Amino acid sequence: MRILVTGGAGFIGSHLIDRLMNDGHEVICLDNFYTGKKHNLLKWLDHHNFEMIRHDITEPIRLEVDQVYHLACPASPVHYQYNPIKTVKTNVIGTLNMLGLAKRVKARFLLASTSEVYGDPEVHPQTEEYRGCVNPIGIRSCYDEGKRMAETLAFDYHRENNVEIRVARIFNTYGPRMLENDGRVVSNFVAQALQGIPLTVYGEGQQTRSFCYVSDLVDGLMRLMNGEHTGPINLGNPDEYTILELAQAVQNLINPDAQIKFEPLPADDPRRRRPDITKAKTLLNWEPTIPLQAGLKLMIEDFRQRVKNNN
Ligand code: NAD
Ligand code: UDP
Repeated sequence: MRILVTGGAGFIGSHLIDRLMNDGHEVICLDNFYTGKKHNLLKWLDHHNFEMIRHDITEPIRLEVDQVYHLACPASPVHYQYNPIKTVKTNVIGTLNMLGLAKRVKARFLLASTSEVYGDPEVHPQTEEYRGCVNPIGIRSCYDEGKRMAETLAFDYHRENNVEIRVARIFNTYGPRMLENDGRVVSNFVAQALQGIPLTVYGEGQQTRSFCYVSDLVDGLMRLMNGEHTGPINLGNPDEYTILELAQAVQNLINPDAQIKFEPLPADDPRRRRPDITKAKTLLNWEPTIPLQAGLKLMIEDFRQRVKNNN
């Protein structure tokens, strides 16, 4: 198949492209390199099945493909809040453009949505039926509401234009190739511990997240794309940790003497998050296989190389 991956130079996108290329597909990567790096795809640049296009999805583009994995959008709060209006444009105009492309060439379209559509959830763990508790005017809304609108667009293109859609609600994912200065919690803690500087825990660290290793997540995305179910379907690891527990896990693996520094909790920071993955288990026969300790070890190896090379 010929497969388009928007945001393919980013963290999840580049791991997805590795899988698709290894499976023998033709892959087109579309990216504006805002948070993505060409380096993530170095091994494919000269491959005859691979094409890289520098393009901003807020502009239309005409391509002929069979499937679209639509991942283009900064995922870290630091990056999506840097230019919130651009984040809205990417999620709304960008998704509209990519759905238009899918409609024109009758491609199947998978949207990388997010657990952020649940906001600061009153229902725990979060099921797909829960409609969320999102602040429409806060500093996270460019991303949360942007993704909610992207879901709306996907379903309207499906109902009005028969576009075959798949909607994944991705929960916190981590692994090699996250940017060291990405601002997300796992990459921050690992980079800080390796550099010998204090781990920055926001608030009292009692808020929770559930962390999924990237290869598990990519497997879930591909099962959703190639299965029969539209979704939305939660994809994430249901093992839930407080942020303080995560800091302690990183300390134990890298440096038990690493210090922890408490910093103010950002506005609208969700207090807890854990996916109910019953649907993914029953409809996609998917569940995560890599526990946090094992995934952290793999990520630390990658970060060790990069932090060393930077010094
Ligand atoms: P990332 O920031 O590493 O990757 C995003 C990619 O999109 C980057 O390569 C970036 O350059 C590109 N991009 C951004 N705006 C663009 C635009 N206007 N035009 C073209 N390219 C653009 O993030 P990631 O963690 O790989 O996330 C990928 C997708 O998964 C995102 O849509 C994100 O919202 C979603 N997601 C990720 C997580 C997670 O924990 N990583 C959780 C939920 C949802
Ligand atoms: N966080 C933290 N220290 C950091 C970065 C993040 O304590 O250096 C917290 C953040 O406040 C949030 C959680 O970790 O409660 C997850 O943050 P991240 O930005 O990774 O993802 P999201 O909030 O989007 O789930």
